[in-house]
Amino acid sequence: MVANRVKNIEKSMIREIFNLATSDCINLGIGEPDFDTPDFIKEGAKRALDMGKTHYSPNLGIPELREAIAEKLKEDYDLNINSNNIMVTCGASEALHLSLLGLIDRGEKVIIINPYFVSYKALSQLAEAKICEFKTDENFNIDLDKLNEMAEGAKAIIFNSPTNPTGKVYDKETIKGLAEIAEDNSLYIISDEVYDKIIYEKKHYSPLKYTDRAILINSFSKTYAMTGWRVGYLVADEIILNNFLKIHQYSVACVNTFSQYGALEAIKKGDSFTKKMVNEFKRRRDLIYKGLKKFFDVYKPDGTFYIFPNISEYGKDIDIIKKLIENKILAVPGSTFGDSRYIRFSFATKLEDIKRALEILEEIL
Ligand code: PLP
Repeated sequence: MVANRVKNIEKSMIREIFNLATSDCINLGIGEPDFDTPDFIKEGAKRALDMGKTHYSPNLGIPELREAIAEKLKEDYDLNINSNNIMVTCGASEALHLSLLGLIDRGEKVIIINPYFVSYKALSQLAEAKICEFKTDENFNIDLDKLNEMAEGAKAIIFNSPTNPTGKVYDKETIKGLAEIAEDNSLYIISDEVYDKIIYEKKHYSPLKYTDRAILINSFSKTYAMTGWRVGYLVADEIILNNFLKIHQYSVACVNTFSQYGALEAIKKGDSFTKKMVNEFKRRRDLIYKGLKKFFDVYKPDGTFYIFPNISEYGKDIDIIKKLIENKILAVPGSTFGDSRYIRFSFATKLEDIKRALEILEEIL
């Protein structure tokens, strides 16, 4: 039989729900940009293939990409990172997995902030962590004093801003407070920043600016519409990085070499693409927020392409999701993210589809 550490992990409910859907459903469940990867990025990868970049790369990733990431972190967030502290990973997913496997011994306490991205719980379980969920308030704010109490004896907090599924972008005070908690309790912040460029009003702050006890995780998936390329990265101090490297080198060896060359083009020239995409997401955010606000208590997302209305007045999340599917709309139940009072809509979908979905919703409700 399979190991208990795997057996006990629940399969993602998102898949099960999607299996109920028919092809004519309006898909507001999706977790990736509906934009195609820009041509200049594809050209970068094609050139790499033509130049014979079809072999293993260094385990940490190609030096050009790691240097470009270090420069971008300096430019965007005034972080002084040596490229030796950067590992290119198979998306943020692998970076999260490495962080948990590499930091957590069996039974050590890991705090996840509820509502949470579904992988945090599963990956913590795989690492055999003792999981403690910290509940945010109705505006998804974090009470730092309460978090500090929970932090006693913890080894790590997994933190995500901008946040999937809520769209919340945490302010500088919260990030600084979190950094203090990490310092005071000698714990690590595993900081998932994959939506750092998908922000509408606020600014992104990285915990690594305020404490060395942060592991910064990011990805090319969302910023440059490159989910299928599987390129992300992790920034950590040298001891941590070199230990994580042991897992990486024995499990995946390196990220696809030609994907890394595509990512290099993305990071050098991709800003204007991202800006255009985010402008379009903002139009959709405004539309869906206005539409949902008529019926639900809903937080206006400051970032990401998700919105997370409280549907508890109308019934249980699963029942509402089923009802929506009967009416050809796909969304994700809040219980997937640890809170059944909500459902998650993605607005990484055409404006016309969002409009139609809102009309259908109005009819149902
Ligand atoms: N972290 C968050 C918060 C996400 O929403 C996702 C994908 O949906 C990931 C990580 C995984 O991203 P990647 O494609 O880089 O593995």
